[in-house]
Amino acid sequence: MPLEIVTVPCLSDNYAFLAHDAASGETALVDVPEAAPVLAALEARGWSLSHILITHHHWDHIGGLDEVRAAHPARVIGAQADQGRLPSLDQAVTEGDVLTIGGEPVHVIDVSGHTVGHVAYHAPASQVVFTADSLMAMGCGRVFEGTHAQMWQSLSKLAALPAETLVCSGHEYTASNARFALTIEPDNPDLISRVADIDAARAVGQPTVPSLLSLECATNPFLRAADPGIAHNLNLSGAPAEDVFAEIRRRKDNF
Ligand code: ZN
Ligand code: FE
Repeated sequence: MPLEIVTVPCLSDNYAFLAHDAASGETALVDVPEAAPVLAALEARGWSLSHILITHHHWDHIGGLDEVRAAHPARVIGAQADQGRLPSLDQAVTEGDVLTIGGEPVHVIDVSGHTVGHVAYHAPASQVVFTADSLMAMGCGRVFEGTHAQMWQSLSKLAALPAETLVCSGHEYTASNARFALTIEPDNPDLISRVADIDAARAVGQPTVPSLLSLECATNPFLRAADPGIAHNLNLSGAPAEDVFAEIRRRKDNF
């Protein structure tokens, strides 16, 4: 049985996620923007937390940790590189480490760039990856701490996961990401049809997260920086993909 994934809207535009294994009763929480919606989602299902996975140190991903931990004495896991700026961890992880949730392996992937020490958690058997502010629906996080080359490498690792992987990212920024994507690749038919789907979903208040990796690879400009058509659109034909990525990211920063 795959992990059951529950999306928990938090703050104004953040998402936390629950990953529940029915057989063992174990439940992992990924990120804690605030406590109340997470505690309510657990209570509604009669679940208690076994693990809390932290992706990176920003307050909108850890702000509710102490309160949730007080109610659910779960094992708190985060990046070793972030140990000095996260609440105290029960387990510090690095790329390649494998956790077990409900008997299922969960692989740690270093996706530094937005921050140095940002990690993603990939559960291959359930075909889900938790990416927070690295890969986002139609976008990616701003490059605050790492380099553009590092962020491109991180996104490339995620793009190489199986196409049917569900991408659970950290924010509902998709509508604005979609507007931007159209400026980079106005003639991409997959992008045009996805933007229509996003607008329809947002018009009735539906979340656009999680999303399928195959759809991200077809429409997310930040994953498509190696595409010759995009390089051409940006007058960067022949440039390395990481340079094209950097230009797309700079344009988005000013969009
Ligand atoms: Zn962040
Ligand atoms: Fe964030």
